[in-house]
Amino acid sequence: MATQPLMNVFNRLSVAFEHGEGAWLYDTDGNKYLDALCGIAVTGLGHAHPAVTRAISEQAAKLVHCSNIYTIKQQEALAAALTRISGMENAFFANSGAEANEAAIKLARRYGHNRNIDTPTIIVMQQSFHGRTMATLSATGNRATQQGFEPLVSGFIQVPYNDVDAVRQVARDNSNVVAILVEPVQGEGGIHIPAPDYLNHLRQICDEQEWLLMLDEVQTGNGRTGRYFAYQHNDILPDVVTTAKGLGNGFPIGACLARGIAAETFTPGSHGTTYGGNPLACATALAVVNTIEQDNLCQRAAALGERIAHGFREQFGDAPYVQEVRNKGLMIGIELTEAGSELVVLAKIKGILLNVTGGGRVVRLLPPLIMTDHDADLMVNTVAQLIRVYAGEERDSAN
Ligand SMILES: *Cc1c(COP(=O)(O)O)cnc(C)c1O
Repeated sequence: MATQPLMNVFNRLSVAFEHGEGAWLYDTDGNKYLDALCGIAVTGLGHAHPAVTRAISEQAAKLVHCSNIYTIKQQEALAAALTRISGMENAFFANSGAEANEAAIKLARRYGHNRNIDTPTIIVMQQSFHGRTMATLSATGNRATQQGFEPLVSGFIQVPYNDVDAVRQVARDNSNVVAILVEPVQGEGGIHIPAPDYLNHLRQICDEQEWLLMLDEVQTGNGRTGRYFAYQHNDILPDVVTTAKGLGNGFPIGACLARGIAAETFTPGSHGTTYGGNPLACATALAVVNTIEQDNLCQRAAALGERIAHGFREQFGDAPYVQEVRNKGLMIGIELTEAGSELVVLAKIKGILLNVTGGGRVVRLLPPLIMTDHDADLMVNTVAQLIRVYAGEERDSAN
């Protein structure tokens, strides 16, 4: 018999949080922690943001759920805001990033069948992450996510990330391709930032081949990289964009946005959801979107990201144990020369919440867009010292 009542799928740290405020979390023993992870790029507005709290409580007191068989004004208002911001034309709302990507994958397959392609195939990238449902884990470029869940969903071809020629090669070899699904910056894979014109090249290939360019902005969206969506750094428009994480600031919601022919591919009955886009989720997300715009938090994320990356580069100089400091706005990765997964626990002891990804070698920081300069500097100093001590360069001043 199982010894505890939760399924054993997470390696959890032994800390339970009781409340949060802004960039800070407080545990049940009264200790405080600087949240440099945001529940993995979710709470971009920090914890207990008054506009979000107000939207949740006011809407919860009126109407939580009805059904997508009725008109939902909050959903229409959120779709109007997101399409205006993104340059897309319409939206489907789901409850998570994986579900938003499921919608995109189904949309691409349907688009293929409409063009008489019977085995529509989607190009995906090595080291990518698209979710944990069967189709999205099949699209994910990480064997560890897939292992033990075969047979995988077919219809994906994997190529190296940031390799335009590899995509052109598939275009020559395979006439069943209908779309490319790609993250503008790979988050789970280890904060990999492609060449500045990578997305422009992919856009051009998709135009030539009549493929859909589908961007997974589940992690990069909602201001995190310094623009509302990361592709807005490139002056292109994708055909499909998915987002989730930062959209609800912790309230579960995902969105699949589309434009042009992709916006006309689904018809009534093609796809659906019971909870997706309910009044409470949409009222909450609308408050998040409005706050990001009104408080200029995209610009803030860009400036803060520069400050933090500069700070780390100054702190490390050409230290032999740091391979590279990378950032796009507030997606920040410190690639170490050796694995450093223990840093998660060591940082927690020092009162900082962070994460290590990319095969255990990339310290990942996803701090909130509302972080103060003071807290950002505190984060840089504490994390840099921690890495120096860990690398054996410095003794821990507390010991
Ligand atoms: C987190 C993530 C997902 C999955 O989102 P869930 O809400 O956990 O289903 C998909 N794509 C990317 C790029 C992500 O970072």
